[in-house]
Amino acid sequence: MKIFDQSISPEELAGYRKDMLARQLAYAAEHSPFYAELLSGVIPGRAELTDLPFTSAGDVTARGAEMVCVPGSEVQRIVTQRTSGSSGSPKRIYFSAADLQATVDFFAVGMGYMCSAGDRVLVLMSGNTPDGLGSLVERGLCKLGAEPLIYGNVTDYGDAVRVCREFLPHTVIGAPATVRRLALCAPELRPANVLLSSDYVSDAAVGTIRRLWECGVFTHYGLTETCYGCAVECPSHTGMHIRNDEFIIEIIDPELLIPLPAWQPGEIVITTLRREAFPLVRYRTGDMGVMIGGSCGCGSSLPRLGRVFGRIDELKRDLNVYKLDETLLRFDAILDYSASLHGSELSVLIETEDRGVSGKAKAGLEKLFSDVQISVSETQTGAGAGKRKIDRLV
Ligand SMILES: [Zn+2]
Repeated sequence: MKIFDQSISPEELAGYRKDMLARQLAYAAEHSPFYAELLSGVIPGRAELTDLPFTSAGDVTARGAEMVCVPGSEVQRIVTQRTSGSSGSPKRIYFSAADLQATVDFFAVGMGYMCSAGDRVLVLMSGNTPDGLGSLVERGLCKLGAEPLIYGNVTDYGDAVRVCREFLPHTVIGAPATVRRLALCAPELRPANVLLSSDYVSDAAVGTIRRLWECGVFTHYGLTETCYGCAVECPSHTGMHIRNDEFIIEIIDPELLIPLPAWQPGEIVITTLRREAFPLVRYRTGDMGVMIGGSCGCGSSLPRLGRVFGRIDELKRDLNVYKLDETLLRFDAILDYSASLHGSELSVLIETEDRGVSGKAKAGLEKLFSDVQISVSETQTGAGAGKRKIDRLV
């Protein structure tokens, strides 16, 4: 059953979810020691979603191998992520061939919102790993009939611009900071659409891309635990349509752990419905988001994910990387930046060719963070680290 295409009603979706949840719970309890323990006493088919216990990244780090539901020979790909916790244990997520194919199928449908057969699509994500993100995007685009070029992560923008000018993409896919910078380097390119994927898509980056390229800007939310794809914006640009055949998304109060209604921001919690290798039950993502109620302009009345506000741990801090993004990336002269915080001293290094911009950037930051000593310096090469973060030096 494929129900990402919104062709079913909310009532049918509820029935589908009930059946699939019961199956996923029975399957997970039967095939994994972790879930056998977690779900002992739970009767699949009778338990409501909200009766089930939560899981978290801590469970994956500590007991991930026990969460796997298929034999090693059926694990097609393992993604290892380093964690910032003091334990230093990596987080490993496992996928079967069917799990990877389900993501390809989602990408083929979801990217149909912004491009179609015959369109050239530039993908600024790594494609070197077999079954990695770039490779799955490529397979999804090929299934759609589009013509993908997997460029990979950008380190040399001169080269990326040259490739872009030859390829003339209809759609560009990448992280917000990368696509924004490409737009600044080559404002004449003007693809029809861009797709931005990140745990936080800044208004500043979206505004710049839209202004320079006058294109449609679509956002996508996904994480490794969901095999990348999770929810994507439709052409109505009022929220992201969820991969309903695969996931149930809840928003909960991260302190009280109670579900929140539409329009109330909280932690994004994910339950898988058809995962083979690594099912998730009420998995707390650590990301802050909000569900949108009502019908979408495209006609769908299924639940949609609205804005994703970023990592909860980062949002708890007054001085967070999202505020820096919104402040600094509004200046077209700032190509990228890096930041470090030492006690109450914030040092920002901006990559720019405009020697006047650091004063304006400093003034903008001082308005936001009055109790922090701020220094801004300039470089002409290599300030950015790709992934947005503040190095916190204690
Ligand atoms: Zn829609």
